Amino acid sequence: MEIAANRVVGLSYTMRDVNEDEELERYDKDDLDYYIHGQEGFFPGLERALEGCVVGDTFDVVLEPEDAFGEYNPKEVQSVSRDEFPDDFELEVGLFIELIPSDFEGAEEDEGIVYWIKEFGEKEVLIDGNHPLAGKKLHFQGEVVEVRQAEADELAHGHVHTEGCHHDDD
Ligand code: ZN
Repeated sequence: MEIAANRVVGLSYTMRDVNEDEELERYDKDDLDYYIHGQEGFFPGLERALEGCVVGDTFDVVLEPEDAFGEYNPKEVQSVSRDEFPDDFELEVGLFIELIPSDFEGAEEDEGIVYWIKEFGEKEVLIDGNHPLAGKKLHFQGEVVEVRQAEADELAHGHVHTEGCHHDDD
């Protein structure tokens, strides 16, 4: 079966940061990464390369930042006072936090902006609204291990249901 829209694809691959020559992610054949093709839930540049591939095909794709997690925007980095955090909040580099800007009129609780903590000192905390992989050129090398038709509830939920996965109907 070829990779095409609305098919579930299981891949084994490594994802490397080209400039740092560092492995960022690895999915082995007994721990595949799954996505639904054509649902904009995966890297567009990688989906284009995989279109029409079948089980056993290998791929070797380099994505520029704009085809991966976007360019790095220095304006997304800001400094906030440590007083803004609750006293018992344990700051940790790399931790994700969600902030709702005070000038964000009518914001609902789930409409905050996600930042991650870049660094922190005694008084200031530097938070970054860029995706942690923004600005990175990524190299994917791997193999197509599984291709099947997506189930109706997978299409309705917009994600893959793997064996042993439990969640509330959403
Ligand atoms: Zn689901």
